[in-house]
Amino acid sequence: MTNDKDSVFEKDTVLEEAEPEITEETPAVEEKKQKKSKEPKEKKEKQPKEKKLSKKKQRELEHEQEITAPTTEYAIECENLVKIYKTEQIEVVALQGLDLKVKRGELVAIVGTSGSGKSTLLNMLGGLDKPSAGSLNVNGRNLLKFTEEDYMDYKRNMVGFVWQNNARNLVSYLTAEQNVELPMLLQGQKNRRERALELLDAVGLSHRINSRLDQMSGGEQQRVAIAISLANNPQILLADEPTGSVDTKTSDQLLQVFKDLNRTRGITIVIVTHDMRLAKQIDRVISIRDGRTSSEIIKKSHAEIMRESQSLEEMDENLTKSVTEGEPDFVSEELVVLDRTGRLQLPKEYLEELGMKGGDRVKADLDKEAERIYIRKAE
Ligand code: ADP
Ligand code: MG
Repeated sequence: MTNDKDSVFEKDTVLEEAEPEITEETPAVEEKKQKKSKEPKEKKEKQPKEKKLSKKKQRELEHEQEITAPTTEYAIECENLVKIYKTEQIEVVALQGLDLKVKRGELVAIVGTSGSGKSTLLNMLGGLDKPSAGSLNVNGRNLLKFTEEDYMDYKRNMVGFVWQNNARNLVSYLTAEQNVELPMLLQGQKNRRERALELLDAVGLSHRINSRLDQMSGGEQQRVAIAISLANNPQILLADEPTGSVDTKTSDQLLQVFKDLNRTRGITIVIVTHDMRLAKQIDRVISIRDGRTSSEIIKKSHAEIMRESQSLEEMDENLTKSVTEGEPDFVSEELVVLDRTGRLQLPKEYLEELGMKGGDRVKADLDKEAERIYIRKAE
Protein backbone atom coordinates (compact mmCIF):
# COMPACT_ATOMS: atom_id res chain seq x y z
CA MET A 1 0.00 0.00 0.00
CA THR A 2 2.71 2.44 1.01
CA ASN A 3 4.58 1.56 -2.13
CA ASP A 4 1.54 2.30 -4.20
CA LYS A 5 1.33 5.70 -2.66
CA ASP A 6 4.97 6.44 -3.37
CA SER A 7 4.70 5.35 -6.92
CA VAL A 8 2.34 8.15 -7.81
CA PHE A 9 5.05 10.68 -6.98
CA GLU A 10 7.61 11.39 -9.59
CA LYS A 11 11.06 10.10 -8.79
CA ASP A 12 12.54 13.53 -8.30
CA THR A 13 9.94 14.49 -5.77
CA VAL A 14 10.68 11.43 -3.71
CA LEU A 15 14.40 12.17 -3.70
CA GLU A 16 13.84 15.74 -2.71
CA GLU A 17 11.62 14.70 0.14
CA ALA A 18 14.22 12.36 1.52
CA GLU A 19 17.18 14.69 1.15
CA PRO A 20 16.58 17.39 3.78
CA GLU A 21 17.38 14.76 6.44
CA ILE A 22 21.11 14.93 5.59
CA THR A 23 21.51 18.47 6.85
CA GLU A 24 25.34 18.48 7.10
CA GLU A 25 25.82 17.84 3.42
CA THR A 26 23.67 20.65 2.22
CA PRO A 27 26.12 21.96 -0.39
CA ALA A 28 26.55 18.51 -1.92
CA VAL A 29 22.84 18.02 -1.94
CA GLU A 30 22.38 21.38 -3.58
CA GLU A 31 24.80 20.34 -6.32
CA LYS A 32 23.00 17.04 -6.81
CA LYS A 33 19.72 18.80 -7.08
CA GLN A 34 21.02 21.14 -9.74
CA LYS A 35 22.36 18.23 -11.72
CA LYS A 36 19.07 16.41 -11.37
CA SER A 37 17.00 19.32 -12.48
CA LYS A 38 19.21 19.75 -15.52
CA GLU A 39 19.11 16.12 -16.64
CA PRO A 40 15.45 15.84 -17.46
CA LYS A 41 15.58 19.14 -19.32
CA GLU A 42 18.31 17.87 -21.61
CA LYS A 43 16.42 14.70 -22.34
CA LYS A 44 13.27 16.65 -22.93
CA GLU A 45 14.97 18.66 -25.64
CA LYS A 46 16.08 15.54 -27.45
CA GLN A 47 12.80 13.62 -27.52
CA PRO A 48 10.13 15.90 -26.19
CA LYS A 49 7.09 14.18 -27.69
CA GLU A 50 7.95 10.62 -26.81
CA LYS A 51 8.79 11.49 -23.22
CA LYS A 52 5.51 13.31 -22.68
CA LEU A 53 3.51 10.47 -24.10
CA SER A 54 5.16 7.80 -22.03
CA LYS A 55 4.77 9.81 -18.84
CA LYS A 56 1.09 10.21 -19.50
CA LYS A 57 0.79 6.53 -20.29
CA GLN A 58 2.68 5.68 -17.14
CA ARG A 59 0.35 7.78 -15.05
CA GLU A 60 -2.62 6.10 -16.68
CA LEU A 61 -1.13 2.71 -15.94
CA GLU A 62 -0.49 3.64 -12.34
CA HIS A 63 -4.01 4.91 -11.96
CA GLU A 64 -5.38 1.75 -13.55
CA GLN A 65 -3.43 -0.26 -10.96
CA GLU A 66 -4.76 1.94 -8.21
CA ILE A 67 -8.40 1.43 -9.11
CA THR A 68 -8.02 -2.28 -9.75
CA ALA A 69 -9.05 -4.42 -6.80
CA PRO A 70 -8.29 -8.13 -6.53
CA THR A 71 -10.81 -10.31 -8.34
CA THR A 72 -12.70 -12.43 -5.85
CA GLU A 73 -15.92 -14.42 -5.68
CA TYR A 74 -17.61 -11.25 -4.45
CA ALA A 75 -19.27 -8.69 -6.68
CA ILE A 76 -19.49 -6.26 -3.79
CA GLU A 77 -17.11 -5.92 -0.85
CA CYS A 78 -17.53 -3.06 1.61
CA GLU A 79 -15.39 -2.84 4.68
CA ASN A 80 -15.82 -0.29 7.39
CA LEU A 81 -17.62 2.00 4.98
CA VAL A 82 -18.27 5.47 6.31
CA LYS A 83 -20.36 8.24 4.78
CA ILE A 84 -20.65 11.58 6.45
CA TYR A 85 -22.96 14.26 5.06
CA LYS A 86 -21.82 17.70 6.05
CA THR A 87 -24.33 20.50 6.02
CA GLU A 88 -23.79 24.02 7.33
CA GLN A 89 -25.00 23.26 10.82
CA ILE A 90 -24.54 19.54 11.31
CA GLU A 91 -22.75 16.43 10.28
CA VAL A 92 -24.80 13.32 9.66
CA VAL A 93 -22.98 10.01 9.83
CA ALA A 94 -25.20 8.04 7.46
CA LEU A 95 -22.93 4.98 7.32
CA GLN A 96 -20.75 4.28 10.28
CA GLY A 97 -18.44 1.45 9.44
CA LEU A 98 -20.63 -0.79 7.35
CA ASP A 99 -19.42 -4.23 6.28
CA LEU A 100 -21.08 -6.04 3.42
CA LYS A 101 -20.22 -8.82 1.02
CA VAL A 102 -22.34 -9.89 -1.90
CA LYS A 103 -21.30 -12.79 -4.11
CA ARG A 104 -21.26 -12.54 -7.88
CA GLY A 105 -24.66 -13.49 -9.24
CA GLU A 106 -26.36 -13.23 -5.86
CA LEU A 107 -29.71 -11.54 -5.22
CA VAL A 108 -29.95 -9.91 -1.81
CA ALA A 109 -32.37 -7.66 -0.03
CA ILE A 110 -31.37 -4.84 2.28
CA VAL A 111 -33.88 -3.89 4.93
CA GLY A 112 -33.89 -1.30 7.68
CA THR A 113 -36.02 1.47 9.10
CA SER A 114 -36.23 4.85 7.45
CA GLY A 115 -33.00 6.78 7.91
CA SER A 116 -30.88 3.68 8.58
CA GLY A 117 -28.66 4.39 5.58
CA LYS A 118 -30.09 2.11 2.89
CA SER A 119 -30.24 4.69 0.11
CA THR A 120 -26.85 6.08 1.12
CA LEU A 121 -25.36 2.61 0.74
CA LEU A 122 -27.02 2.10 -2.63
CA ASN A 123 -25.77 5.47 -3.87
CA MET A 124 -22.22 4.50 -2.90
CA LEU A 125 -22.57 1.15 -4.68
CA GLY A 126 -23.98 2.87 -7.74
CA GLY A 127 -21.20 5.42 -7.91
CA LEU A 128 -23.65 8.31 -7.43
CA ASP A 129 -21.85 9.52 -4.35
CA LYS A 130 -18.39 9.06 -2.84
CA PRO A 131 -17.75 7.30 0.48
CA SER A 132 -15.96 9.31 3.17
CA ALA A 133 -13.78 6.41 4.36
CA GLY A 134 -13.41 2.65 4.41
CA SER A 135 -13.06 0.39 1.42
CA LEU A 136 -15.49 -0.39 -1.35
CA ASN A 137 -14.68 -2.80 -4.14
CA VAL A 138 -17.17 -3.65 -6.85
CA ASN A 139 -16.35 -6.28 -9.46
CA GLY A 140 -12.63 -5.72 -9.22
CA ARG A 141 -12.77 -1.90 -9.02
CA ASN A 142 -11.71 0.11 -6.02
CA LEU A 143 -14.26 2.92 -5.89
CA LEU A 144 -12.43 4.95 -3.27
CA LYS A 145 -9.67 5.71 -5.78
CA PHE A 146 -12.06 6.71 -8.54
CA THR A 147 -11.76 9.98 -10.39
CA GLU A 148 -14.84 11.69 -11.82
CA GLU A 149 -14.05 10.05 -15.12
CA ASP A 150 -13.87 6.58 -13.55
CA TYR A 151 -17.24 7.18 -11.93
CA MET A 152 -18.75 8.12 -15.27
CA ASP A 153 -17.30 5.05 -16.90
CA TYR A 154 -18.51 2.86 -14.03
CA LYS A 155 -22.07 4.19 -14.18
CA ARG A 156 -22.12 3.79 -17.92
CA ASN A 157 -20.83 0.23 -18.02
CA MET A 158 -21.16 -1.54 -14.71
CA VAL A 159 -24.38 -0.66 -12.89
CA GLY A 160 -28.07 -0.24 -13.54
CA PHE A 161 -30.41 1.65 -11.21
CA VAL A 162 -34.12 1.31 -10.48
CA TRP A 163 -35.88 3.76 -8.15
CA GLN A 164 -39.18 3.73 -6.36
CA ASN A 165 -40.22 6.84 -8.15
CA ASN A 166 -39.51 6.00 -11.75
CA ALA A 167 -41.09 9.17 -13.14
CA ARG A 168 -37.70 10.84 -13.38
CA ASN A 169 -36.55 8.32 -16.00
CA LEU A 170 -39.71 7.94 -18.00
CA VAL A 171 -41.52 10.15 -20.47
CA SER A 172 -45.26 9.74 -20.08
CA TYR A 173 -46.28 10.62 -23.64
CA LEU A 174 -43.86 8.16 -25.26
CA THR A 175 -44.49 4.46 -25.76
CA ALA A 176 -42.75 1.75 -23.75
CA GLU A 177 -40.44 1.03 -26.64
CA GLN A 178 -39.60 4.70 -27.22
CA ASN A 179 -38.85 5.11 -23.53
CA VAL A 180 -36.39 2.22 -23.59
CA GLU A 181 -34.79 3.47 -26.80
CA LEU A 182 -34.38 7.05 -25.60
CA PRO A 183 -31.30 6.58 -23.37
CA MET A 184 -29.74 4.37 -26.06
CA LEU A 185 -30.32 7.14 -28.59
CA LEU A 186 -28.62 9.66 -26.32
CA GLN A 187 -25.64 7.34 -26.03
CA GLY A 188 -25.53 6.68 -29.75
CA GLN A 189 -26.13 2.96 -29.44
CA LYS A 190 -26.90 0.91 -32.51
CA ASN A 191 -29.66 -1.68 -33.07
CA ARG A 192 -31.84 0.22 -30.65
CA ARG A 193 -35.18 -1.20 -31.71
CA GLU A 194 -34.00 -4.77 -31.59
CA ARG A 195 -32.42 -4.25 -28.20
CA ALA A 196 -35.45 -2.41 -26.77
CA LEU A 197 -37.75 -5.24 -27.82
CA GLU A 198 -35.41 -7.78 -26.29
CA LEU A 199 -35.30 -5.89 -22.97
CA LEU A 200 -39.05 -5.35 -22.88
CA ASP A 201 -39.44 -9.07 -23.47
CA ALA A 202 -37.05 -9.78 -20.58
CA VAL A 203 -39.34 -7.87 -18.22
CA GLY A 204 -42.50 -9.50 -19.59
CA LEU A 205 -43.82 -6.55 -21.56
CA SER A 206 -43.73 -7.86 -25.16
CA HIS A 207 -47.46 -7.26 -25.49
CA ARG A 208 -47.24 -3.60 -24.38
CA ILE A 209 -44.41 -2.21 -26.49
CA ASN A 210 -46.63 0.29 -28.30
CA SER A 211 -48.57 1.48 -25.26
CA ARG A 212 -47.93 4.99 -24.03
CA LEU A 213 -46.54 5.19 -20.53
CA ASP A 214 -49.55 7.12 -19.23
CA GLN A 215 -51.76 4.24 -20.34
CA MET A 216 -49.81 1.73 -18.29
CA SER A 217 -50.23 0.58 -14.70
CA GLY A 218 -47.68 1.41 -11.99
CA GLY A 219 -46.29 -2.12 -12.17
CA GLU A 220 -45.93 -1.97 -15.94
CA GLN A 221 -44.22 1.41 -15.75
CA GLN A 222 -41.81 -0.04 -13.23
CA ARG A 223 -41.04 -2.88 -15.65
CA VAL A 224 -40.20 -0.30 -18.29
CA ALA A 225 -37.85 1.32 -15.77
CA ILE A 226 -36.19 -2.06 -15.17
CA ALA A 227 -35.82 -2.59 -18.93
CA ILE A 228 -34.11 0.82 -19.18
CA SER A 229 -31.76 -0.03 -16.33
CA LEU A 230 -30.62 -3.06 -18.31
CA ALA A 231 -29.82 -1.15 -21.48
CA ASN A 232 -26.09 -0.93 -20.72
CA ASN A 233 -25.82 -4.65 -19.87
CA PRO A 234 -24.98 -3.96 -16.22
CA GLN A 235 -23.24 -6.57 -14.11
CA ILE A 236 -24.92 -5.13 -11.06
CA LEU A 237 -28.49 -3.96 -10.67
CA LEU A 238 -29.40 -1.73 -7.75
CA ALA A 239 -33.03 -1.14 -6.86
CA ASP A 240 -34.08 1.36 -4.19
CA GLU A 241 -37.57 0.53 -2.92
CA PRO A 242 -38.63 -0.59 -6.41
CA THR A 243 -41.99 -1.81 -5.14
CA GLY A 244 -42.59 1.11 -2.82
CA SER A 245 -45.59 2.48 -4.66
CA VAL A 246 -47.36 -0.62 -5.98
CA ASP A 247 -49.78 -3.11 -4.39
CA THR A 248 -48.65 -6.46 -3.01
CA LYS A 249 -49.63 -8.50 -6.05
CA THR A 250 -47.71 -6.18 -8.39
CA SER A 251 -44.82 -6.12 -5.98
CA ASP A 252 -44.60 -9.94 -6.08
CA GLN A 253 -44.63 -9.83 -9.87
CA LEU A 254 -41.84 -7.27 -9.93
CA LEU A 255 -39.78 -9.39 -7.57
CA GLN A 256 -40.29 -12.26 -9.98
CA VAL A 257 -38.87 -10.10 -12.79
CA PHE A 258 -35.76 -9.43 -10.67
CA LYS A 259 -35.44 -13.12 -9.81
CA ASP A 260 -35.71 -14.10 -13.47
CA LEU A 261 -33.08 -11.54 -14.51
CA ASN A 262 -30.81 -12.77 -11.75
CA ARG A 263 -31.23 -16.39 -12.79
CA THR A 264 -31.12 -16.07 -16.56
CA ARG A 265 -28.57 -13.25 -16.92
CA GLY A 266 -26.50 -13.82 -13.81
CA ILE A 267 -26.80 -10.16 -12.81
CA THR A 268 -25.95 -9.43 -9.19
CA ILE A 269 -28.99 -7.69 -7.72
CA VAL A 270 -29.37 -5.62 -4.55
CA ILE A 271 -32.91 -4.64 -3.64
CA VAL A 272 -33.53 -2.13 -0.88
CA THR A 273 -36.93 -2.49 0.69
CA HIS A 274 -38.74 -1.83 3.94
CA ASP A 275 -41.34 -4.43 3.01
CA MET A 276 -40.57 -7.49 5.13
CA ARG A 277 -43.25 -9.46 3.30
CA LEU A 278 -41.26 -9.01 0.10
CA ALA A 279 -37.92 -9.56 1.80
CA LYS A 280 -39.13 -12.93 3.11
CA GLN A 281 -39.20 -14.17 -0.46
CA ILE A 282 -35.49 -13.46 -0.91
CA ASP A 283 -32.86 -15.96 0.19
CA ARG A 284 -30.54 -13.51 1.88
CA VAL A 285 -31.76 -10.46 3.70
CA ILE A 286 -29.29 -8.05 5.24
CA SER A 287 -30.58 -5.74 7.87
CA ILE A 288 -28.89 -2.42 8.53
CA ARG A 289 -29.36 -0.31 11.63
CA ASP A 290 -27.82 3.09 12.29
CA GLY A 291 -25.61 2.82 9.23
CA ARG A 292 -24.20 -0.57 10.13
CA THR A 293 -24.92 -4.15 9.17
CA SER A 294 -26.77 -5.54 12.16
CA SER A 295 -28.12 -8.92 11.15
CA GLU A 296 -28.74 -11.29 8.29
CA ILE A 297 -31.57 -13.65 7.58
CA ILE A 298 -30.56 -16.61 5.48
CA LYS A 299 -32.95 -19.18 4.15
CA LYS A 300 -31.81 -22.73 4.64
CA SER A 301 -33.12 -26.02 3.37
CA HIS A 302 -34.03 -28.91 5.67
CA ALA A 303 -30.98 -30.80 4.53
CA GLU A 304 -28.71 -27.94 5.62
CA ILE A 305 -30.38 -27.73 9.01
CA MET A 306 -30.00 -31.45 9.61
CA ARG A 307 -26.31 -31.14 8.81
CA GLU A 308 -25.78 -28.16 11.07
CA SER A 309 -28.02 -28.97 14.03
CA GLN A 310 -26.00 -30.23 16.94
CA SER A 311 -28.79 -32.13 18.65
CA LEU A 312 -32.09 -33.72 17.76
CA GLU A 313 -33.79 -31.21 20.01
CA GLU A 314 -32.29 -28.30 18.11
CA MET A 315 -33.24 -29.81 14.76
CA ASP A 316 -36.77 -30.35 15.94
CA GLU A 317 -37.03 -26.76 17.06
CA ASN A 318 -35.76 -25.42 13.75
CA LEU A 319 -38.00 -27.59 11.66
CA THR A 320 -41.08 -26.67 13.70
CA LYS A 321 -40.21 -23.04 13.13
CA SER A 322 -40.04 -23.54 9.37
CA VAL A 323 -43.40 -25.31 9.20
CA THR A 324 -45.12 -22.60 11.22
CA GLU A 325 -43.66 -20.01 8.86
CA GLY A 326 -45.51 -21.75 6.06
CA GLU A 327 -42.59 -22.94 3.99
CA PRO A 328 -42.09 -26.60 4.75
CA ASP A 329 -38.87 -26.94 2.77
CA PHE A 330 -37.04 -23.91 4.08
CA VAL A 331 -36.38 -22.20 7.34
CA SER A 332 -35.24 -18.64 7.85
CA GLU A 333 -32.39 -18.19 10.25
CA GLU A 334 -31.53 -14.77 11.58
CA LEU A 335 -27.84 -14.19 12.14
CA VAL A 336 -26.17 -11.35 13.96
CA VAL A 337 -23.19 -9.98 12.07
CA LEU A 338 -19.86 -9.66 13.78
CA ASP A 339 -17.90 -6.70 12.46
CA ARG A 340 -14.19 -6.74 11.70
CA THR A 341 -13.24 -5.56 15.14
CA GLY A 342 -15.35 -8.20 16.88
CA ARG A 343 -18.34 -6.03 17.82
CA LEU A 344 -21.88 -7.22 17.35
CA GLN A 345 -25.32 -5.71 17.53
CA LEU A 346 -27.65 -7.89 19.57
CA PRO A 347 -31.32 -8.09 18.55
CA LYS A 348 -33.39 -5.46 20.35
CA GLU A 349 -35.99 -8.00 21.45
CA TYR A 350 -33.35 -10.09 23.23
CA LEU A 351 -32.07 -7.10 25.13
CA GLU A 352 -35.57 -6.03 26.10
CA GLU A 353 -36.41 -9.54 27.24
CA LEU A 354 -33.48 -9.55 29.64
CA GLY A 355 -33.83 -5.91 30.65
CA MET A 356 -30.47 -4.98 29.14
CA LYS A 357 -29.67 -1.62 27.57
CA GLY A 358 -26.82 0.23 25.89
CA GLY A 359 -23.97 0.98 28.27
CA ASP A 360 -24.70 -2.04 30.47
CA ARG A 361 -21.79 -4.18 31.50
CA VAL A 362 -22.08 -7.66 30.14
CA LYS A 363 -20.35 -10.87 31.07
CA ALA A 364 -19.25 -13.06 28.18
CA ASP A 365 -18.32 -16.67 28.92
CA LEU A 366 -16.68 -18.97 26.46
CA ASP A 367 -17.71 -22.62 26.33
CA LYS A 368 -14.96 -24.03 24.16
CA GLU A 369 -16.35 -27.54 23.98
CA ALA A 370 -19.77 -26.43 22.78
CA GLU A 371 -18.15 -23.72 20.63
CA ARG A 372 -20.40 -21.09 22.15
CA ILE A 373 -20.18 -17.76 23.88
CA TYR A 374 -22.74 -16.97 26.57
CA ILE A 375 -23.64 -13.38 27.25
CA ARG A 376 -25.43 -12.14 30.35
CA LYS A 377 -25.88 -8.96 32.27
CA ALA A 378 -23.17 -8.50 34.87
CA GLU A 379 -24.38 -8.09 38.46
P1 ADP B 1 -32.80 5.27 4.26
O1 ADP B 1 -32.69 5.14 2.78
O2 ADP B 1 -32.47 4.01 4.99
O3 ADP B 1 -34.13 5.80 4.69
P2 ADP B 1 -30.81 7.34 3.96
O4 ADP B 1 -29.62 6.63 3.44
O5 ADP B 1 -31.61 8.10 2.99
O6 ADP B 1 -31.72 6.32 4.77
O7 ADP B 1 -30.34 8.35 5.11
C1 ADP B 1 -29.48 8.00 6.15
C2 ADP B 1 -29.20 9.24 7.01
O8 ADP B 1 -28.43 10.16 6.27
C3 ADP B 1 -30.44 9.96 7.43
O9 ADP B 1 -30.23 10.46 8.72
C4 ADP B 1 -30.55 11.08 6.42
O10 ADP B 1 -31.20 12.18 6.98
C5 ADP B 1 -29.10 11.39 6.13
N1 ADP B 1 -28.89 11.89 4.76
C6 ADP B 1 -29.13 11.20 3.61
N2 ADP B 1 -28.80 11.95 2.53
C7 ADP B 1 -28.34 13.13 3.01
C8 ADP B 1 -27.82 14.33 2.40
N3 ADP B 1 -27.71 14.44 1.07
N4 ADP B 1 -27.45 15.34 3.22
C9 ADP B 1 -27.54 15.24 4.56
N5 ADP B 1 -28.00 14.15 5.19
C10 ADP B 1 -28.39 13.09 4.43
MG1 MG C 1 -34.12 5.48 1.25
